[in-house]
Amino acid sequence: MAKGIPTRSEDYSQWYIELVKQADLAENSDVRGCMVIKPYGYSIWEKMQQALDKMFKDTGHVNAYFPLFVPKSMFEAEEKNAEGFAKECAIVTHYRLKADPDNKGKLIVDPNAKLEEELVVRPTSEAIIWSTYKKWIQSYRDLPILINQWANVVRWEMRTRLFLRTAEFLWQEGHTAHATKQEAIKETEQMLDVYATFAEEFMAMPVVKGKKSENERFPGALDTYCIEAMMQDGKALQAGTSHFLGQNFAKAFDVKFSNKEGKLEEVWGTSWGVSTRLMGALIMAHSDDDGLIIPPKLAPIHVVIVPIFKSDEEFARISEKAEGIAKELRKQGFSVKYDNRDTQKPGFKFAEWELKGVPVRIAIGPRDLENGTVEVARRDTKEKQVMKMDDITSSIPTLLDDIQKNIYQRALKFKTEMTTRVDTYDEFKKVLDEKGGFVAAHWDGTAETEQKIKGETKATIRCIPLDAAVEEGKCIYSGKPSNRRVLFAIAY
Ligand code: AMP
Repeated sequence: MAKGIPTRSEDYSQWYIELVKQADLAENSDVRGCMVIKPYGYSIWEKMQQALDKMFKDTGHVNAYFPLFVPKSMFEAEEKNAEGFAKECAIVTHYRLKADPDNKGKLIVDPNAKLEEELVVRPTSEAIIWSTYKKWIQSYRDLPILINQWANVVRWEMRTRLFLRTAEFLWQEGHTAHATKQEAIKETEQMLDVYATFAEEFMAMPVVKGKKSENERFPGALDTYCIEAMMQDGKALQAGTSHFLGQNFAKAFDVKFSNKEGKLEEVWGTSWGVSTRLMGALIMAHSDDDGLIIPPKLAPIHVVIVPIFKSDEEFARISEKAEGIAKELRKQGFSVKYDNRDTQKPGFKFAEWELKGVPVRIAIGPRDLENGTVEVARRDTKEKQVMKMDDITSSIPTLLDDIQKNIYQRALKFKTEMTTRVDTYDEFKKVLDEKGGFVAAHWDGTAETEQKIKGETKATIRCIPLDAAVEEGKCIYSGKPSNRRVLFAIAY
């Protein structure tokens, strides 16, 4: 167990918060609900960004940037979207402060600097982007538009938790415009696949792809697709969403194009996003009581080398070997840290790098010099092995690959074990109570039943899995007929 951090079984929620802080990922800021992402945490986020950005570009998207502020009338244009986000919007009403005449050194809002029209701080950017697309789109030749932006957004969340739910968060939001419904749906599904591939291949986190029920749908969308992941405490986490917007935003902003026959048609849209919540998902999916476990593909440091020495002379000889290994591994594209601090003992360093989730640790001591060996420890299983120094540069890539796969397999096994099929409401409640996880059950398809189940058990429909087999059954709550199972869970 890492110092000052409860174990997962003692207090999962506190384990998470303490781990985020002690591993130097992020901390609460002086601003309510907003976090400071620290350099180590940010470097993981950057790795995520790089991988996602490449996947977006490989599927034909380009990056652009739109304003932080959305004039209120523009925000109101798509009614459902506006209504859905209204209760968590920050609004700018004034543009100037002035000295307080009654209180030296203090400032007050200048009543003469009231904005003619209030500005909403974007909780999402459909409004500002579709009002721009109106200017860009006239003909079928202007379509499709395939744009992504990396940005911050603000949603005035009441209950916040580092990374998982913050009032300001970083994300990417894709906003695309198409000539046909089929093309827009294809785009929505393609981006869901991109997210699922990223989650599984980079984050080593298995996900369920599905559609949201009407209750959980993005305001203003006709369909919301999502990827859902299972955390180690048996709670689900929505890790990414892809929305089919139909023509709702084109209608709201009067975005029409003339088709090949010269007839005017409304444009079809999609939007899709993942946020810094993925950092929370990464931590919660894999880490253990000793600290973070970061999959090699997202690790800011792949290998740390720790020297074990008594004299300056030993230190010098070990350093020479360590620097040589580091150089060779860096040549192969790995990030290597040689921890040559003389202010900390090896045991302290081991614990620190375990806390920070570095996938591989190499220790070199005086005996290793004599034998031409090193000790290699992997973070995921904590297994140690002695390796020949000469083999290191060829073995490390295979080892990192193996760690990446092992972390994924472990999470996949857990997800499978934590998915339970039930056929009665009693069983349903029992599983939620005693085990948690995903519960696959029949549902009659009504919002009413969904709300009642949520009210009684706190479980929500995480998604209607895309691969759910058609299966005749009865709704666990109402007994009405149902033709496929949906996934329920208690969620973050
Ligand atoms: P949405 O626009 O509501 O579909 O959300 C897009 C993405 O942002 C989803 O992947 C959400 O999981 C994530 N997200 C939503 N709200 C927050 C929040 N308060 N903090 C961090 N991520 C969020």
